[in-house]
Amino acid sequence: MVTTYKHHIGGKWIRSFSGKTFMSINPANKAPVGKFQQGNRQDIDAAVRAATSAFKSWKDVPAPKRGEILLRAAQILRKRKEKFARIVTKEMGKVISEGRGDVQEAIDIFEYMAGEGRRLFGHTTPSELRNKFCMTFRQPLGVVGLITPWNFPIAIPAWKLAPALICGNSVIFKPSSDTPLCATKLVALLIEAGIPSGVLNLVTGSGNDVGMALVKHPSIRGISFTGSRTVGEKIVQYAGLKRVGLELGGKNPIIIMEDADLELAVEGVIWGGFGTTGQRCTAASRVIVHHKVKKQFEKRLLDHIKKLRVGDGIKKTTDVGPLINQKAVEKVHGYTLIGKQEGARLLHGGRFLNKKGFFYEPTVFSDVSPSMRIAQEEIFGPSISIIAVKDIKEAIDVCNRIEYGLSSSIYTNNIQNAFLAIEKIEAGITYVNASTIGSEVHLPFGGVKLTGNGTREAGIEGIYEFSETKTIYVDYSGKLQKAQIDDVMVR
Ligand code: NAP
Repeated sequence: MVTTYKHHIGGKWIRSFSGKTFMSINPANKAPVGKFQQGNRQDIDAAVRAATSAFKSWKDVPAPKRGEILLRAAQILRKRKEKFARIVTKEMGKVISEGRGDVQEAIDIFEYMAGEGRRLFGHTTPSELRNKFCMTFRQPLGVVGLITPWNFPIAIPAWKLAPALICGNSVIFKPSSDTPLCATKLVALLIEAGIPSGVLNLVTGSGNDVGMALVKHPSIRGISFTGSRTVGEKIVQYAGLKRVGLELGGKNPIIIMEDADLELAVEGVIWGGFGTTGQRCTAASRVIVHHKVKKQFEKRLLDHIKKLRVGDGIKKTTDVGPLINQKAVEKVHGYTLIGKQEGARLLHGGRFLNKKGFFYEPTVFSDVSPSMRIAQEEIFGPSISIIAVKDIKEAIDVCNRIEYGLSSSIYTNNIQNAFLAIEKIEAGITYVNASTIGSEVHLPFGGVKLTGNGTREAGIEGIYEFSETKTIYVDYSGKLQKAQIDDVMVR
């Protein structure tokens, strides 16, 4: 028996106006996970009506009280961490230890943003005139739409929901059609924690129908989107004057200098390249190695890769889980064929694995030149490209010869190299002697160039995406004072 799940609109679990459903499956074995509502524009209209009405009272709930609800959500989630982690692995495929990490990120951001309920700082500043007080404070945008991908099916929604709710917005959440169960369980948990009716609405269904209806809706004040560059560009085209936050793709480099701790670097490349089966926006997909250590690095890398066990992520013994779906397998294999045609040397992998689910061998190309498509385009799978360079200058140049700019890393024991990389790499994040993945919720997260449009998630900057700044002047001089015109004498 496959359970049928519903939208959550105006405090009720309801069916779609479309009367249609779609299936979510386990990528490790293609078994059904659940049936979900195939939403449409009418569902979005209903959700916007509910959210608009709920916003009127939610925005006036004191922010520390909104924070208490988020804290309660964190506490419940902590108790059910294992249960949620298993749902993540069942629906998205990542190995169970990473499933736990996905849930932990949500706990962390709920706790962090609960604390923001007692801060939400504006600032005070002196006036240029006497007896006048100046300050800013934060107000919610209104009804906001959240559109999320499948690769962090609990963490990414939580990264958007927590700041949106703490700022006093009401929300319509459209999750990826590959992971609607994770989204449904997360919304149910927040409702249980005390989010009032209509403040948090869930509408499942396709990007073209539900996502676009949300993006185009005139009553929505902001859209926060994480996903592919293609869809991000489409959203900008149709969102009009809404505030839009975009977190898009990456093609993240790891530089390995001749003075690096090679064993540490190899571990970082394995973790960054094949963790989450390479399906992280911050996944390491270009390894830029000093030519003097390239041979030694490749030998050690192959020794490690041969030990990786690919399989169902629910088994403790698995290191690399499946890809999300058949389309992803075809995309990754397509890039293997492209790499071969381009003249790169296939060091390892490059084949489908003959199993029940969507499995692909960890793949490594060497002798890759920086302009090859495998070194320029986001593959979003377990495939890395090794590029040799002669010095730090060339390494940074290769790093930056790319349209994306999300994460980056350098392995070196030379302080000059480290600081040159910190300063010169064009990316939103740079790690030194650590891999490209593993962000912490109290620091801002996001990229430069075509990875986004400048917004940051998490940390204090996560609040900026979901709030307006209001500027206040209080004149207590009791007379007309004119800024820029009245000349205040210095005595
Ligand atoms: P995607 O295909 O762009 O989908 C993301 C979300 O957008 C899904 O909910 C999707 O719905 C929806 N969508 C699709 N078409 C739409 C449209 N025309 N209008 C509105 N919404 C639409 O991306 P994905 O495959 O889920 O995720 C992988 C991508 O996300 C990679 O490029 C990765 O780098 C990026 N990512 C970036 C970050 C970051 O923080 N920078 C983090 C994680 C992932 P359906 O599922 O129904 O199609």
